[in-house]
Amino acid sequence: MEISKIRNCLQKLNSGDVLWDHEILKFYSVDSSLFQVIPKVVVIPKTEKDVISVVKFANKNKISITPRGSGTGLVGSALNDGIIIDLKKIDTINIQKNYVKIGAGVIKGSLDKELKIQRKFFPPNPSIGPFCSLGGIIGNNASGSRTLKYGSTIDNIIEITFVDGQGKKITLPNDKKTGKKIIKCAKKN
Ligand SMILES: Cc1cc2nc3c(=O)[nH]c(=O)nc-3n(C[C@H](O)[C@H](O)[C@H](O)COP(=O)(O)OP(=O)(O)OC[C@H]3O[C@@H](n4cnc5c(N)ncnc54)[C@H](O)[C@@H]3O)c2cc1C
Repeated sequence: MEISKIRNCLQKLNSGDVLWDHEILKFYSVDSSLFQVIPKVVVIPKTEKDVISVVKFANKNKISITPRGSGTGLVGSALNDGIIIDLKKIDTINIQKNYVKIGAGVIKGSLDKELKIQRKFFPPNPSIGPFCSLGGIIGNNASGSRTLKYGSTIDNIIEITFVDGQGKKITLPNDKKTGKKIIKCAKKN
């Protein structure tokens, strides 16, 4: 599919921003690694429905798609020559008694600030500090100065809802069938 058609379709099917100015593509072509990969287009969805529509579009048209948090990753894993989907607007923080429900684009510094008011904290503490997003922290299973006592990110997640490569919304550990598939795949690799 032509690049212009991809961009037009994405504008129609999602309520967020669809960007392809030269400077924007240049910005999203790097993270904190040594690599550079220029994407075709950057989408900044506003809602979960937007995320699902964009992923379904990418899957149907066989265009690679990569989520991006703050781009502080060290190995180039937030880079891609297809669609970059920046989750920064999926940023709700809902603090409950013994857990917090967050959107993937929440920046760690904002979460730390909100939790501090209630004398709580989120243990994973990579030394990049407040700049990275919770989506990126989960993607990396980040750890840090408190890990010996509290474990890594994976040890501090009760439940996770994500959109798979086909645009299907999945919640783990509730979805036992998908959970088993992921474990089988991880063991193989
Ligand atoms: C100076 C420095 C110090 C660091 N120190 C530590 C440390 O002490 N301990 C440690 O463990 N790590 C450390 N890191 C690495 C750190 O864990 C990552 O930089 C951070 O977690 C990435 O977050 P991000 O929001 O910038 O993600 P990005 O760089 O944007 O993305 C990282 C990965 O996560 C994926 N991702 C992002 N958002 C989502 C989402 N919503 N859904 C699915 N996948 C997503 C991306 O596709 C990519 O694969 C350090 C990094 C730097 C630069």
